[in-house]
Amino acid sequence: MNEQIIKLSNEVSKLIKPQFEKIDEIVEYNQIKVLKAMQKYQLSEAHFFGTSGYGYDDIGREVIEKIYADIFGVEDALVRIQLVSGTHALSTMLFGLLRPNDELVAITGKPYDTLDDAIAGEGIGSLKDYGVKYTIIDLLDDGKVDIEKVLDYVKTNKPKVVMMQRSRGYSARKAFSVAYLNEIIEKIRNVNSETIIALDNCYGELVEKEEPKADVLAGSLIKNLGGGIAPTGGYIVGKQKYVEWIANRHTSPGVGKECGATLGFNKQILQGLFMAPHVVGQAIKTAIFSAALVEKMGFETSPKWDEDRSDIIQTITFHDKDKLIKFCQGIQKGSAIDSHVTPYPWAMPGYSDEVIMAAGAFNQGSSIELSADAPIKEPYILYMQGGLTYESGKYGIMTAASDCLTNN
Ligand SMILES: *Cc1c(COP(=O)(O)O)cnc(C)c1O
Repeated sequence: MNEQIIKLSNEVSKLIKPQFEKIDEIVEYNQIKVLKAMQKYQLSEAHFFGTSGYGYDDIGREVIEKIYADIFGVEDALVRIQLVSGTHALSTMLFGLLRPNDELVAITGKPYDTLDDAIAGEGIGSLKDYGVKYTIIDLLDDGKVDIEKVLDYVKTNKPKVVMMQRSRGYSARKAFSVAYLNEIIEKIRNVNSETIIALDNCYGELVEKEEPKADVLAGSLIKNLGGGIAPTGGYIVGKQKYVEWIANRHTSPGVGKECGATLGFNKQILQGLFMAPHVVGQAIKTAIFSAALVEKMGFETSPKWDEDRSDIIQTITFHDKDKLIKFCQGIQKGSAIDSHVTPYPWAMPGYSDEVIMAAGAFNQGSSIELSADAPIKEPYILYMQGGLTYESGKYGIMTAASDCLTNN
Protein backbone atom coordinates (compact mmCIF):
# COMPACT_ATOMS: atom_id res chain seq x y z
CA MET A 1 0.00 0.00 0.00
CA ASN A 2 1.28 3.45 -0.98
CA GLU A 3 2.51 5.44 2.08
CA GLN A 4 0.80 8.62 0.95
CA ILE A 5 -2.54 6.81 0.70
CA ILE A 6 -2.16 5.46 4.24
CA LYS A 7 -1.44 8.97 5.49
CA LEU A 8 -4.33 10.53 3.57
CA SER A 9 -6.62 7.75 4.67
CA ASN A 10 -5.87 8.44 8.34
CA GLU A 11 -6.54 12.14 7.87
CA VAL A 12 -9.75 11.50 6.00
CA SER A 13 -11.04 8.96 8.52
CA LYS A 14 -11.08 11.67 11.17
CA LEU A 15 -12.61 14.24 8.88
CA ILE A 16 -15.63 12.11 7.98
CA LYS A 17 -16.61 11.05 11.49
CA PRO A 18 -19.43 13.61 11.92
CA GLN A 19 -20.91 12.44 8.61
CA PHE A 20 -20.85 8.86 9.86
CA GLU A 21 -22.92 9.85 12.88
CA LYS A 22 -25.67 11.08 10.56
CA ILE A 23 -25.57 7.77 8.69
CA ASP A 24 -25.77 5.80 11.95
CA GLU A 25 -28.92 7.64 12.89
CA ILE A 26 -30.64 6.74 9.60
CA VAL A 27 -29.46 3.13 9.87
CA GLU A 28 -30.89 2.83 13.38
CA TYR A 29 -34.23 4.27 12.28
CA ASN A 30 -34.48 1.91 9.30
CA GLN A 31 -33.30 -1.09 11.29
CA ILE A 32 -36.13 -0.58 13.76
CA LYS A 33 -38.60 -0.14 10.90
CA VAL A 34 -37.54 -3.48 9.39
CA LEU A 35 -37.55 -5.20 12.77
CA LYS A 36 -41.03 -3.90 13.61
CA ALA A 37 -42.41 -5.13 10.28
CA MET A 38 -40.98 -8.59 10.96
CA GLN A 39 -42.51 -8.61 14.44
CA LYS A 40 -45.86 -7.34 13.21
CA TYR A 41 -46.24 -10.35 10.89
CA GLN A 42 -44.87 -12.77 13.50
CA LEU A 43 -42.02 -13.94 11.37
CA SER A 44 -40.96 -17.41 12.44
CA GLU A 45 -38.78 -20.31 11.36
CA ALA A 46 -41.70 -21.92 9.53
CA HIS A 47 -41.49 -19.06 7.00
CA PHE A 48 -37.98 -20.08 5.96
CA PHE A 49 -38.99 -23.33 4.28
CA GLY A 50 -39.81 -22.91 0.64
CA THR A 51 -42.13 -24.52 -1.81
CA SER A 52 -41.35 -26.22 -5.13
CA GLY A 53 -43.34 -26.64 -8.33
CA TYR A 54 -46.18 -24.14 -8.61
CA GLY A 55 -45.40 -22.66 -5.23
CA TYR A 56 -48.97 -22.40 -4.03
CA ASP A 57 -49.50 -21.43 -0.37
CA ASP A 58 -45.94 -20.39 0.22
CA ILE A 59 -46.36 -18.80 3.64
CA GLY A 60 -42.79 -17.53 3.64
CA ARG A 61 -43.24 -15.74 0.32
CA GLU A 62 -46.52 -14.27 1.55
CA VAL A 63 -45.01 -12.94 4.75
CA ILE A 64 -42.05 -11.48 2.82
CA GLU A 65 -44.46 -9.57 0.61
CA LYS A 66 -46.40 -8.27 3.63
CA ILE A 67 -43.19 -7.15 5.31
CA TYR A 68 -42.01 -5.37 2.16
CA ALA A 69 -45.35 -3.58 1.81
CA ASP A 70 -45.16 -2.53 5.45
CA ILE A 71 -41.65 -1.13 5.13
CA PHE A 72 -42.66 0.92 2.10
CA GLY A 73 -45.95 1.96 3.70
CA VAL A 74 -47.89 0.66 0.68
CA GLU A 75 -50.76 -1.77 0.09
CA ASP A 76 -49.07 -4.67 -1.61
CA ALA A 77 -45.80 -6.14 -2.84
CA LEU A 78 -44.39 -8.67 -5.27
CA VAL A 79 -40.99 -9.95 -4.12
CA ARG A 80 -39.71 -12.78 -6.25
CA ILE A 81 -36.56 -14.71 -7.02
CA GLN A 82 -38.04 -15.19 -10.51
CA LEU A 83 -37.48 -11.49 -11.16
CA VAL A 84 -34.00 -11.95 -12.58
CA SER A 85 -32.73 -8.38 -12.21
CA GLY A 86 -33.65 -4.77 -11.60
CA THR A 87 -34.27 -4.36 -15.31
CA HIS A 88 -36.66 -7.30 -15.25
CA ALA A 89 -38.54 -5.89 -12.24
CA LEU A 90 -38.80 -2.48 -13.91
CA SER A 91 -39.81 -3.82 -17.29
CA THR A 92 -42.39 -6.12 -15.66
CA MET A 93 -43.74 -3.08 -13.83
CA LEU A 94 -44.09 -1.11 -17.05
CA PHE A 95 -45.56 -3.98 -19.08
CA GLY A 96 -48.01 -4.64 -16.26
CA LEU A 97 -49.23 -1.05 -16.22
CA LEU A 98 -49.32 -0.14 -19.90
CA ARG A 99 -51.65 -1.27 -22.69
CA PRO A 100 -51.53 -0.57 -26.47
CA ASN A 101 -52.05 3.14 -27.24
CA ASP A 102 -51.24 4.11 -23.66
CA GLU A 103 -48.46 6.59 -23.13
CA LEU A 104 -45.38 6.39 -20.93
CA VAL A 105 -43.62 9.61 -20.03
CA ALA A 106 -40.18 9.56 -18.44
CA ILE A 107 -39.81 12.82 -16.52
CA THR A 108 -36.37 12.48 -14.99
CA GLY A 109 -34.66 12.40 -18.37
CA LYS A 110 -33.83 9.21 -20.24
CA PRO A 111 -34.30 6.16 -18.00
CA TYR A 112 -31.45 3.82 -17.09
CA ASP A 113 -29.63 2.41 -20.15
CA THR A 114 -30.77 -1.18 -19.69
CA LEU A 115 -34.41 -0.08 -20.07
CA ASP A 116 -33.88 1.37 -23.55
CA ASP A 117 -34.59 -1.95 -25.28
CA ALA A 118 -37.51 -2.86 -23.03
CA ILE A 119 -39.21 0.45 -23.71
CA ALA A 120 -38.26 1.35 -27.25
CA GLY A 121 -36.35 -1.53 -28.87
CA GLU A 122 -37.33 -2.36 -32.46
CA GLY A 123 -38.96 -5.71 -33.17
CA ILE A 124 -37.90 -7.38 -29.96
CA GLY A 125 -41.16 -7.32 -28.02
CA SER A 126 -40.60 -3.90 -26.48
CA LEU A 127 -43.37 -1.64 -25.18
CA LYS A 128 -43.03 0.22 -28.47
CA ASP A 129 -43.70 -3.00 -30.42
CA TYR A 130 -46.91 -3.34 -28.39
CA GLY A 131 -48.00 0.14 -29.41
CA VAL A 132 -47.12 2.04 -26.27
CA LYS A 133 -46.27 5.68 -26.90
CA TYR A 134 -43.15 6.98 -25.25
CA THR A 135 -41.95 10.48 -24.42
CA ILE A 136 -38.91 11.65 -22.52
CA ILE A 137 -38.94 15.03 -20.79
CA ASP A 138 -35.32 16.04 -20.27
CA LEU A 139 -34.05 17.44 -17.03
CA LEU A 140 -33.19 21.14 -16.81
CA ASP A 141 -29.54 22.20 -16.96
CA ASP A 142 -29.38 22.31 -13.17
CA GLY A 143 -30.32 18.62 -13.01
CA LYS A 144 -33.85 19.28 -11.74
CA VAL A 145 -37.12 18.06 -13.21
CA ASP A 146 -38.64 20.44 -15.77
CA ILE A 147 -41.74 20.68 -13.62
CA GLU A 148 -43.57 23.32 -15.68
CA LYS A 149 -43.25 21.21 -18.79
CA VAL A 150 -44.14 18.00 -16.94
CA LEU A 151 -47.29 19.42 -15.39
CA ASP A 152 -48.35 20.94 -18.66
CA TYR A 153 -47.77 17.64 -20.46
CA VAL A 154 -49.58 15.55 -17.86
CA LYS A 155 -52.55 17.93 -17.86
CA THR A 156 -52.86 18.01 -21.65
CA ASN A 157 -51.91 14.48 -22.72
CA LYS A 158 -53.06 12.52 -19.67
CA PRO A 159 -50.39 9.81 -20.00
CA LYS A 160 -51.17 6.47 -18.39
CA VAL A 161 -47.80 6.28 -16.63
CA VAL A 162 -45.26 8.83 -15.53
CA MET A 163 -41.90 7.32 -14.73
CA MET A 164 -39.23 8.69 -12.43
CA GLN A 165 -35.77 7.48 -11.49
CA ARG A 166 -34.46 8.24 -8.01
CA SER A 167 -30.84 7.29 -8.47
CA ARG A 168 -28.48 9.09 -10.80
CA GLY A 169 -27.72 5.89 -12.70
CA TYR A 170 -25.05 6.55 -15.35
CA SER A 171 -25.60 10.29 -15.39
CA ALA A 172 -24.01 13.47 -14.17
CA ARG A 173 -26.98 14.60 -12.13
CA LYS A 174 -27.32 13.78 -8.46
CA ALA A 175 -29.84 11.37 -6.98
CA PHE A 176 -33.17 12.99 -6.16
CA SER A 177 -34.00 13.22 -2.48
CA VAL A 178 -37.19 11.60 -1.26
CA ALA A 179 -38.53 15.02 -0.24
CA TYR A 180 -37.96 16.34 -3.76
CA LEU A 181 -39.52 13.30 -5.43
CA ASN A 182 -42.56 13.56 -3.15
CA GLU A 183 -42.95 17.22 -4.05
CA ILE A 184 -43.02 16.32 -7.77
CA ILE A 185 -45.39 13.40 -7.16
CA GLU A 186 -47.76 15.66 -5.24
CA LYS A 187 -47.80 18.24 -8.04
CA ILE A 188 -48.49 15.61 -10.69
CA ARG A 189 -51.35 14.17 -8.64
CA ASN A 190 -52.83 17.62 -8.31
CA VAL A 191 -53.07 18.10 -12.07
CA ASN A 192 -54.07 14.52 -12.91
CA SER A 193 -54.94 11.99 -10.23
CA GLU A 194 -55.42 9.23 -12.83
CA THR A 195 -51.83 9.14 -14.04
CA ILE A 196 -49.90 6.28 -12.45
CA ILE A 197 -46.60 7.37 -10.98
CA ALA A 198 -44.00 4.62 -11.30
CA LEU A 199 -40.55 4.92 -9.79
CA ASP A 200 -37.23 3.24 -10.40
CA ASN A 201 -35.99 2.95 -6.82
CA CYS A 202 -32.79 1.00 -7.61
CA TYR A 203 -29.88 1.97 -5.33
CA GLY A 204 -32.08 4.30 -3.29
CA GLU A 205 -33.68 1.92 -0.78
CA LEU A 206 -32.99 2.69 2.88
CA VAL A 207 -30.58 5.50 2.11
CA GLU A 208 -33.04 7.90 3.72
CA LYS A 209 -35.60 7.33 6.46
CA GLU A 210 -38.56 7.12 4.09
CA GLU A 211 -39.13 5.79 0.58
CA PRO A 212 -40.78 7.92 -2.14
CA LYS A 213 -44.59 7.99 -2.20
CA ALA A 214 -45.01 6.84 -5.82
CA ASP A 215 -47.91 4.59 -6.85
CA VAL A 216 -45.53 1.76 -7.75
CA LEU A 217 -41.82 1.29 -7.07
CA ALA A 218 -39.42 -1.38 -8.25
CA GLY A 219 -35.86 -2.48 -7.67
CA SER A 220 -33.36 -5.30 -7.42
CA LEU A 221 -32.56 -7.67 -4.56
CA ILE A 222 -28.87 -7.81 -5.44
CA LYS A 223 -28.75 -4.14 -4.58
CA ASN A 224 -29.80 -2.44 -1.32
CA LEU A 225 -32.74 -4.49 -0.04
CA GLY A 226 -31.09 -7.87 -0.46
CA GLY A 227 -28.50 -6.85 2.11
CA GLY A 228 -25.84 -8.78 0.19
CA ILE A 229 -27.48 -12.05 1.22
CA ALA A 230 -30.43 -12.45 -1.19
CA PRO A 231 -28.88 -14.47 -4.02
CA THR A 232 -31.10 -13.01 -6.77
CA GLY A 233 -34.53 -11.44 -7.25
CA GLY A 234 -36.45 -8.23 -7.56
CA TYR A 235 -39.34 -6.39 -5.96
CA ILE A 236 -42.30 -4.32 -7.03
CA VAL A 237 -44.40 -2.54 -4.39
CA GLY A 238 -47.31 -0.12 -4.40
CA LYS A 239 -51.05 0.16 -4.73
CA GLN A 240 -52.79 -3.22 -4.60
CA LYS A 241 -54.51 -2.81 -7.97
CA TYR A 242 -51.28 -2.10 -9.79
CA VAL A 243 -49.32 -4.83 -8.05
CA GLU A 244 -52.05 -7.23 -9.19
CA TRP A 245 -51.77 -6.08 -12.82
CA ILE A 246 -48.01 -6.45 -12.62
CA ALA A 247 -48.21 -9.89 -10.97
CA ASN A 248 -50.48 -10.96 -13.84
CA ARG A 249 -47.82 -9.90 -16.26
CA HIS A 250 -45.03 -11.51 -14.20
CA THR A 251 -46.66 -14.97 -13.99
CA SER A 252 -49.85 -15.16 -16.05
CA PRO A 253 -53.18 -13.36 -16.10
CA GLY A 254 -55.31 -15.30 -13.67
CA VAL A 255 -52.32 -16.68 -11.77
CA GLY A 256 -50.88 -13.41 -10.49
CA LYS A 257 -49.23 -13.62 -7.09
CA GLU A 258 -50.51 -17.11 -6.28
CA CYS A 259 -47.62 -19.02 -7.85
CA GLY A 260 -43.85 -18.78 -7.65
CA ALA A 261 -41.85 -21.45 -5.86
CA THR A 262 -39.28 -20.09 -3.44
CA LEU A 263 -37.10 -23.24 -3.39
CA GLY A 264 -35.68 -22.56 0.05
CA PHE A 265 -34.56 -18.97 -0.54
CA ASN A 266 -37.07 -17.27 1.78
CA LYS A 267 -34.59 -17.28 4.63
CA GLN A 268 -31.97 -15.48 2.57
CA ILE A 269 -34.45 -12.90 1.33
CA LEU A 270 -35.53 -12.26 4.93
CA GLN A 271 -32.09 -12.29 6.48
CA GLY A 272 -30.89 -10.02 3.70
CA LEU A 273 -33.71 -7.61 4.42
CA PHE A 274 -32.87 -7.73 8.10
CA MET A 275 -29.25 -6.86 7.29
CA ALA A 276 -30.12 -4.29 4.62
CA PRO A 277 -30.31 -1.11 6.74
CA HIS A 278 -26.87 -1.81 8.19
CA VAL A 279 -25.33 -2.92 4.91
CA VAL A 280 -26.67 0.15 3.09
CA GLY A 281 -25.07 2.23 5.86
CA GLN A 282 -21.75 0.43 5.31
CA ALA A 283 -21.98 1.09 1.57
CA ILE A 284 -22.67 4.78 2.16
CA LYS A 285 -19.76 5.04 4.58
CA THR A 286 -17.53 3.43 1.96
CA ALA A 287 -18.76 6.01 -0.57
CA ILE A 288 -18.12 8.88 1.83
CA PHE A 289 -14.63 7.62 2.57
CA SER A 290 -13.82 7.22 -1.10
CA ALA A 291 -15.09 10.71 -1.92
CA ALA A 292 -13.06 12.29 0.86
CA LEU A 293 -9.92 10.36 -0.10
CA VAL A 294 -9.95 11.03 -3.81
CA GLU A 295 -10.87 14.68 -3.28
CA LYS A 296 -7.60 14.97 -1.35
CA MET A 297 -5.89 13.34 -4.32
CA GLY A 298 -7.28 16.12 -6.52
CA PHE A 299 -10.09 14.29 -8.34
CA GLU A 300 -13.63 15.56 -8.75
CA THR A 301 -16.39 13.66 -7.00
CA SER A 302 -20.14 13.63 -6.84
CA PRO A 303 -21.61 13.68 -4.30
CA LYS A 304 -18.88 15.42 -2.30
CA TRP A 305 -18.02 13.58 0.89
CA ASP A 306 -20.15 15.90 3.06
CA GLU A 307 -23.20 16.18 0.78
CA ASP A 308 -26.59 14.60 1.51
CA ARG A 309 -27.28 11.36 -0.35
CA SER A 310 -30.31 9.56 -1.74
CA ASP A 311 -28.57 6.67 -3.44
CA ILE A 312 -25.41 4.66 -2.82
CA ILE A 313 -23.59 5.74 -5.98
CA GLN A 314 -20.34 7.66 -5.85
CA THR A 315 -18.73 9.07 -8.94
CA ILE A 316 -15.12 10.03 -9.45
CA THR A 317 -14.09 12.00 -12.51
CA PHE A 318 -10.54 11.18 -13.58
CA HIS A 319 -10.15 13.13 -16.84
CA ASP A 320 -7.63 10.38 -17.61
CA LYS A 321 -8.40 7.02 -19.16
CA ASP A 322 -5.43 5.18 -17.63
CA LYS A 323 -6.09 6.39 -14.11
CA LEU A 324 -9.75 5.41 -14.41
CA ILE A 325 -8.84 1.91 -15.59
CA LYS A 326 -6.17 1.49 -12.91
CA PHE A 327 -8.53 2.61 -10.16
CA CYS A 328 -11.21 0.22 -11.38
CA GLN A 329 -8.74 -2.64 -11.59
CA GLY A 330 -7.58 -1.77 -8.06
CA ILE A 331 -11.13 -2.14 -6.75
CA GLN A 332 -11.19 -5.66 -8.20
CA LYS A 333 -7.79 -6.38 -6.67
CA GLY A 334 -9.06 -5.35 -3.25
CA SER A 335 -12.10 -7.71 -3.38
CA ALA A 336 -12.54 -11.03 -1.64
CA ILE A 337 -13.67 -12.79 -4.82
CA ASP A 338 -11.67 -12.87 -8.06
CA SER A 339 -9.02 -10.54 -6.65
CA HIS A 340 -6.54 -12.21 -9.00
CA VAL A 341 -8.57 -11.25 -12.08
CA THR A 342 -7.95 -8.01 -13.99
CA PRO A 343 -10.98 -6.38 -15.59
CA TYR A 344 -10.66 -4.67 -18.99
CA PRO A 345 -13.10 -2.54 -20.99
CA TRP A 346 -15.58 -4.53 -23.14
CA ALA A 347 -18.71 -4.02 -25.23
CA MET A 348 -21.40 -5.06 -22.76
CA PRO A 349 -24.88 -5.81 -24.12
CA GLY A 350 -27.38 -3.06 -23.31
CA TYR A 351 -24.78 -0.31 -22.95
CA SER A 352 -23.81 2.11 -25.72
CA ASP A 353 -20.10 2.64 -24.90
CA GLU A 354 -17.40 0.17 -23.91
CA VAL A 355 -17.59 -0.46 -20.19
CA ILE A 356 -15.09 -1.54 -17.56
CA MET A 357 -16.46 -3.25 -14.48
CA ALA A 358 -14.94 -4.31 -11.20
CA ALA A 359 -17.12 -6.79 -9.37
CA GLY A 360 -15.49 -9.09 -6.89
CA ALA A 361 -18.83 -10.25 -5.53
CA PHE A 362 -20.28 -13.29 -3.77
CA ASN A 363 -23.41 -12.90 -5.90
CA GLN A 364 -22.72 -12.35 -9.59
CA GLY A 365 -23.15 -8.69 -10.52
CA SER A 366 -24.25 -7.77 -7.03
CA SER A 367 -23.71 -4.06 -6.66
CA ILE A 368 -24.48 -3.74 -2.96
CA GLU A 369 -21.07 -5.37 -2.78
CA LEU A 370 -18.17 -3.03 -3.59
CA SER A 371 -18.24 -2.63 -7.33
CA ALA A 372 -17.33 -0.03 -9.89
CA ASP A 373 -18.08 0.54 -13.50
CA ALA A 374 -17.32 3.14 -16.08
CA PRO A 375 -18.21 3.80 -19.68
CA ILE A 376 -14.95 4.43 -21.49
CA LYS A 377 -15.55 7.99 -22.64
CA GLU A 378 -14.64 11.57 -21.71
CA PRO A 379 -14.42 12.82 -19.00
CA TYR A 380 -13.76 9.31 -17.66
CA ILE A 381 -16.22 9.05 -14.83
CA LEU A 382 -16.19 6.03 -12.57
CA TYR A 383 -19.47 4.99 -10.99
CA MET A 384 -18.87 3.15 -7.78
CA GLN A 385 -21.14 1.63 -5.20
CA GLY A 386 -21.52 -0.88 -2.42
CA GLY A 387 -19.37 -2.36 0.29
CA LEU A 388 -20.87 -5.05 2.52
CA THR A 389 -18.65 -3.96 5.37
CA TYR A 390 -17.06 -0.55 5.71
CA GLU A 391 -13.74 -2.14 6.64
CA SER A 392 -13.52 -4.18 3.44
CA GLY A 393 -14.89 -1.30 1.36
CA LYS A 394 -12.30 1.08 2.78
CA TYR A 395 -9.51 -1.38 2.06
CA GLY A 396 -10.75 -1.83 -1.50
CA ILE A 397 -10.78 1.93 -2.08
CA MET A 398 -7.32 2.31 -0.57
CA THR A 399 -6.00 -0.43 -2.85
CA ALA A 400 -7.53 1.28 -5.87
CA ALA A 401 -6.23 4.71 -4.89
CA SER A 402 -2.80 3.26 -4.29
CA ASP A 403 -2.67 1.58 -7.70
CA CYS A 404 -3.90 4.75 -9.31
CA LEU A 405 -0.89 6.65 -7.95
CA THR A 406 1.76 4.18 -9.05
CA ASN A 407 2.97 4.43 -12.63
CA ASN A 408 3.41 0.91 -13.93
C1 LIG B 1 -29.17 -1.17 -11.47
C2 LIG B 1 -30.20 -0.27 -11.98
C3 LIG B 1 -31.16 -0.70 -12.88
C4 LIG B 1 -31.13 -2.07 -13.51
O1 LIG B 1 -30.93 -3.10 -12.62
P1 LIG B 1 -30.14 -4.42 -13.06
O2 LIG B 1 -30.31 -5.27 -11.86
O3 LIG B 1 -28.73 -4.03 -13.33
O4 LIG B 1 -30.84 -4.98 -14.24
C5 LIG B 1 -32.11 0.19 -13.27
N1 LIG B 1 -32.13 1.43 -12.80
C6 LIG B 1 -31.22 1.90 -11.93
C7 LIG B 1 -31.29 3.31 -11.44
C8 LIG B 1 -30.23 1.05 -11.49
O5 LIG B 1 -29.33 1.50 -10.62
